[in-house]
Amino acid sequence: MSILDFFKHKTFAHGIHLPDKKEHTREQAIRRLPFAPELIVPLSQHFGAPAKAIVSPGQEVVRGELIAEANGFMSVPIHAPASGVIKEVELYPTARGPKTESIVIKTWPGASQRTASFEPVNIPSLTHEQLIKAVQDTGMVGLGGAGFPTHVKLSVPPEYSIDTLVVNGCECEPYLTTDHRLMLEQPAELLMGTSMLMKALGAKQAIIGIEDNKMDAVETIKKHLSGFEHIQVKAVQTHYPQGSEKLLIKVLLDREVPSAGFPYQVNVVVQNIATITQLGELLPLNQGLIERVVTVTGTGINKPGNYLVPLGTPIRFLLDHVGFSGSANHLILGGPMMGSTVASLDVPITKPVSGLLVFNEQSIEKVSDDIYPCIKCARCVDACPMHLNPSMLGQLASKREYESMQENYNLMDCFECGCCSYVCPSNIPLVQYFRISKSIMRERAIEKQNND
Ligand code: SF4
Ligand code: SF4
Repeated sequence: MSILDFFKHKTFAHGIHLPDKKEHTREQAIRRLPFAPELIVPLSQHFGAPAKAIVSPGQEVVRGELIAEANGFMSVPIHAPASGVIKEVELYPTARGPKTESIVIKTWPGASQRTASFEPVNIPSLTHEQLIKAVQDTGMVGLGGAGFPTHVKLSVPPEYSIDTLVVNGCECEPYLTTDHRLMLEQPAELLMGTSMLMKALGAKQAIIGIEDNKMDAVETIKKHLSGFEHIQVKAVQTHYPQGSEKLLIKVLLDREVPSAGFPYQVNVVVQNIATITQLGELLPLNQGLIERVVTVTGTGINKPGNYLVPLGTPIRFLLDHVGFSGSANHLILGGPMMGSTVASLDVPITKPVSGLLVFNEQSIEKVSDDIYPCIKCARCVDACPMHLNPSMLGQLASKREYESMQENYNLMDCFECGCCSYVCPSNIPLVQYFRISKSIMRERAIEKQNND
């Protein structure tokens, strides 16, 4: 990419430029992981009510078969990631921390990769309601890390209409290359999924926004656009956190989502590449989500790559397969900026997990745990893409003045990108403060709702 190309592509104000660290996996084609002897499939892999198990110990299941039903509208079903026999339905630890009711499947040795087949869906013949239900039946959730049920995001309040579907191909977190590989390897499914979601939303256009460190993906998709005249591809500057919904909408459409508001308020819905590509593959075949692509990389990994992993695969099995030399203390699920550390290797890969990063001792930069007073340098203010005042928010958090953080400093607009913590010379863990403050405010809101 030339320097002219760099300035040619648009971006947002503030944010940070990070080394992308994608060189070890961006050229690695997606490879299928074998089945682990046991899969641990949590009933809660999504935002909303956990699914309800419909299988019992001793029962045989076929790969792709429904094993847990959606528990209401804000829930999704779960399908068997492999053929085998149900060992138990019990509480198991997950990466989120607390134990969650999970279905454990003992897979058949040498089980086939073929999935159960169902009556194909004729998408053009479906009504809006039938299409939303068909999306829910796939068990699809935001595969970019959010885990929000896709059919709920497509169910826009009736007072709003959607004119544009934005497809988020930024993948702005360092190390991750899942979406990049999907764009290169499955452009037809991506475009099929995009046109199906445009129908579900009644959108007249779709824009696929891709950071300009993936120009090969831009070119690949452009070559497949014939017959999809309402879909365009636009390159945007590589700039963290360009993949945030609000920032991408601003850059692509010059529309501002209101403070504490939602994209549908500016007539837009955003979906990520992996979600749409998987839907493009599963929806016409009436099949459920049973596997996902995970980037496995970092200095502690022997065979970095992009792996198609059956959901429920224990992290330990995945790491044994790729070879590793790190420790559970240096393991991150997701990207390094917004992902979370995991303390155990015995938790499973679930729907929202896009990356597994492992670092060895030698490569870990020893960062001091010492926190120093704020020196009012304003670097955090310059970095915040939401134009918040992280310095002031940090001071209020340390005094537990959560109401003031929300009412006077728009705490809820913080989407925890970590830019402020990254640039702070005083090593103040600002984003951790904000994460805790937001969850306290959410709990208080629920408590108030229950008391009213
Ligand atoms: S974590 Fe929140 S406050 Fe900090 S830079 Fe990101 S959006 Fe701004
Ligand atoms: S970057 Fe850190 S030291 Fe500087 S103003 Fe923000 S909180 Fe204070």
